[in-house]
Amino acid sequence: MKANADFPTLNKKRPDGLNPAGIPYRVLIIDDSIFIRKQISQILSSEGFEIAGEAGDGIEGIEKYKNLSPGIDLVTLDITMPRMDGVTTLEHIIRFDPEAKIVMISALGKQDLVKQAILAGARNYIIKPLDRKKVLERLTAVLN
Ligand SMILES: [Mg+2]
Repeated sequence: MKANADFPTLNKKRPDGLNPAGIPYRVLIIDDSIFIRKQISQILSSEGFEIAGEAGDGIEGIEKYKNLSPGIDLVTLDITMPRMDGVTTLEHIIRFDPEAKIVMISALGKQDLVKQAILAGARNYIIKPLDRKKVLERLTAVLN
């Protein structure tokens, strides 16, 4: 009799970071905190995502999105940043690419800004502190 182990494709879940063709999703991380960027990057890399770029503020983020476009599958975007906040950054990126898939990263207690971002076209949001499982769930939901 064959055991499940003889059919690895039945048991083995495809890593969240790969599209149905097996190609890594390309992510741009925009956040002024090096710690948060590193955290997101580690979570995503461990699931096979490709970190296409990182930016430390909104202005740099918009520039990177445009330079890497097309080819960014997903953006994680911090709400609170110097120079240009996350909601304004979102509006610029959506104006450039209405199909952009952007997930907001927010501190607790910023519900109004999160709501504003969703109305402006953000696909989802994640509240800090970042939980690995929650991050992967939310991003995967947006990609599928
Ligand atoms: Mg911040």
